[in-house]
Amino acid sequence: MKAVTSLPQGYTPCGEVNFAKDKKRAWILNGVGLLLFILFALAFAYIAFLFHRESLGRSASVTIGGWQLLEGILAMAFTVFGCMLVHELIHGIFFWVFTRAWPHFGFKWIYAYASAPEWYIPRTPFLIIRLAPFLLITLIGVAVLPFASLGLSLFLWLLLTLNAAGSVGDFYVIIRLLFAPSPLLVHDYGDGMTWYRGI
Ligand SMILES: [Zn+2]
Repeated sequence: MKAVTSLPQGYTPCGEVNFAKDKKRAWILNGVGLLLFILFALAFAYIAFLFHRESLGRSASVTIGGWQLLEGILAMAFTVFGCMLVHELIHGIFFWVFTRAWPHFGFKWIYAYASAPEWYIPRTPFLIIRLAPFLLITLIGVAVLPFASLGLSLFLWLLLTLNAAGSVGDFYVIIRLLFAPSPLLVHDYGDGMTWYRGI
């Protein structure tokens, strides 16, 4: 089944996620995101440690000056912003793969999003669109870790952790959709999404 621009006959709404409307759920997810941040931070720190055990021992007495600290903070702010853009760009590329149409990118306060408001997308492609940024960034980041310097590893660790914890909304949607009935078409309109069950 392919993505379509109009809902086929017989499809009725059977589920919805809208964090702008459902503030309580958004707060719960933020809490889960924070928990995931801690868990992923520990997991990726452990993986980075495995690759850099020896060089860590050698550079135990590194001192950090004021400018270096400022540079570090700026680089981290840039990492946070860059991570968010790359994450949404990957969503966007996969929207394009399945619809062959340019997706919609938007900004809201401090977060960006990619959506396809003109499209109704079947469950499997939609799950791929939702999972792709977490999967790709994690795989590429972990693959680069063994070859990265200690400094770069620190940023990779931050990037991997932010991306994984920031995927909490994607994980939530994926879990909801896995338990939804078949056949299913998902309409992602940016502020939220509704899914429709067919006959
Ligand atoms: Zn996402």
